[in-house]
Amino acid sequence: MGAKKQVIYLDNNATTQIDKRVLDAMMPFLTNEFANANSTHQFGVNAYEAVKSARVQVADLIGAEAHEIVFTSGSTEAINLAIKGVAENYQSKGKHIVTVSTEHSAVLDTCQYLENKGFAVTYLPVKADGLIDFKELKSVLRDDTILVSVMLANNETGVIQPIKEIAELAHSFGALFMSDATQAVGKIPINVDELGIDLLCLSGHKLNAPKGVGALFVRQRMNRVKIPALLHGGGHEKGMRSGTLNVPGIVALGAACSIAQKEMSKNAESIGALRDYLESELLKIDGTSVNGNVENRLYNTSNLLFRGTDSDAVIMGLSNTDNDLPLIAVSNGSACTSASIEPSHVLTAMGLDEIAAFSSVRFSVGKFNTKEEMDIVIDSVKDVVCTLRLMVS
Ligand code: PLP
Repeated sequence: MGAKKQVIYLDNNATTQIDKRVLDAMMPFLTNEFANANSTHQFGVNAYEAVKSARVQVADLIGAEAHEIVFTSGSTEAINLAIKGVAENYQSKGKHIVTVSTEHSAVLDTCQYLENKGFAVTYLPVKADGLIDFKELKSVLRDDTILVSVMLANNETGVIQPIKEIAELAHSFGALFMSDATQAVGKIPINVDELGIDLLCLSGHKLNAPKGVGALFVRQRMNRVKIPALLHGGGHEKGMRSGTLNVPGIVALGAACSIAQKEMSKNAESIGALRDYLESELLKIDGTSVNGNVENRLYNTSNLLFRGTDSDAVIMGLSNTDNDLPLIAVSNGSACTSASIEPSHVLTAMGLDEIAAFSSVRFSVGKFNTKEEMDIVIDSVKDVVCTLRLMVS
């Protein structure tokens, strides 16, 4: 890639650019303030205090209390800690877990691992719009169900599940409720008490903090959840996650949460307007439709099916390095599974056939995008889709 090529980044559900203010907040802890947060000298106490503030910032964003936040390396670790932890600690009640076929692979693979260890897992189907069917959920819940895990917002389609109602149903069977909120945290208001969430994961790099830091909310008030550690060692994070704390990452996550909280409604409006503009223009291309429920959806995500195209070819066409046009970064499927040649498990679960799934592209807008960029993307996508269709006709 030419060093000067402009990048239009529309892959914010894969990861986001670090906010300069977040970088500024973490920088002292990457340089002069390098102490171990567990050291008892004053230098260590400074780091400890910074972690303490970050814990409050993270908790505030989701309506939790600081002592309910366990810092991890990201959502994948938080999900493993939560699901394996519940399986281990609650198996005297039962060995049944319920999740959804459109979950992220971090949840699906962890559940599959537990199936190999003798747990029973029900993978709920979804309707054509990506939402779960309540009657279906009700029919699979059992007295031995220990955990229901349903993501708040889907990473591929942005579809938002009715979490409060799902949590109520799970609780009525005595099960815990966990939500992978990786894509929703920082974008939409979340209150773990109002939603009835017992365990929730989040990942810093999805909300303009760096990669390698995240958190798990573990309910301690009202129905305290007890889970054992995944990583054993020095007993950090109240014994739930040992390992020297990633102070710069944690400070960055705290700053990102605080910024997201303050700027959420402004971002929702501006990002939502860009996404709507982009989507409405792209829908003018013949044979184009939206994948997923458009009423219950993250305001930044647009998953579009361009019939008669191949999404890999669209992605390549938009990131062509042989011309002076900007490099446009979009994706198909989850970044974590994009190395696989399987069609998106999310789209096929919604009933799309393989050809339609392979013809779908995700645009995920972020707070640094502009209207001018959307105009360039609209023209480029129209060109690429047209060219690809001419090639196969
Ligand atoms: N869950 C969802 C919904 C995601 O989108 C992702 C990342 O793509 C993850 C979990 C895993 O997050 P991380 O890779 O930061 O651990």
